[in-house]
Amino acid sequence: MGTSSQTLCGCNSVVECQPSKLFVAGSIPVTRSKLLGVAQPGSAPALGAGGREFDPLHRDQFNMKIIKISKTIIHFHQGPIGISCSGGVDSSVLLYILMKYVKDPIHIFTCASKLKNYTTVKSSTEVIRKCIELTNNNNVTHHIRYVDEQTFENLFYPQQYSLINVMYTGVTLNPPEAVTDNFKEKSAEDERNPGTIKSFYKQTSKLTYMPFANIDKKEIYNIYKELDLLQSLYPLTRSCEDLNLLEGHCGQCWWCEERLWAFNKL
Ligand SMILES: [Zn+2]
Repeated sequence: MGTSSQTLCGCNSVVECQPSKLFVAGSIPVTRSKLLGVAQPGSAPALGAGGREFDPLHRDQFNMKIIKISKTIIHFHQGPIGISCSGGVDSSVLLYILMKYVKDPIHIFTCASKLKNYTTVKSSTEVIRKCIELTNNNNVTHHIRYVDEQTFENLFYPQQYSLINVMYTGVTLNPPEAVTDNFKEKSAEDERNPGTIKSFYKQTSKLTYMPFANIDKKEIYNIYKELDLLQSLYPLTRSCEDLNLLEGHCGQCWWCEERLWAFNKL
């Protein structure tokens, strides 16, 4: 799929950019001139255990700064940017990547629900502190919203969008059905089911960008591995949805099983 035989950014490495799938036709408010303002050339920090360096000057056809980690491409939009972060494994690594490469202010939004004993407060705070330590970037503001129950409206509320140009979320694909069929619980999130290519962008009052929309947790594992975060950031993340557990992982819920499938440990 896509134009994998040709680079879009003029470098030698093949970037499997899929421009036709990156944008929802007619729904993107950012103009090309705005996109041109996104790129902030700078030094390329070394990443990964192998000492491999990522060239932050990869650009897409709009001259937008992008990075490829494992098989996944992430676009860096002009800030200030927002990210919905629960302290889970997906949003945490996305936060790390943003903090590593975005110099603009980052607003981190966490929804803490009474139903889940407000456990996301601890996990998200620990993840942010670790990301600050690892990236040396503390240009972040953490917004925690306390609610009775986590709903879409509680996760994404209008006041957030007055602060940011774009909201990043770490939503991923579910594992293949052959895998989840053996899970003890069933997922209620049908929109994460694999099989169809999903849009990376959603337009509400502002743009929402989901760079992991078409990858599952196995690729998230690859990203942690490539960024050398398996020993540092990963242990602080928590995806468990057990309603009685205050910390740690139950090992039984759908989310724990997904985590075990991808990372082979909780
Ligand atoms: Zn669990």
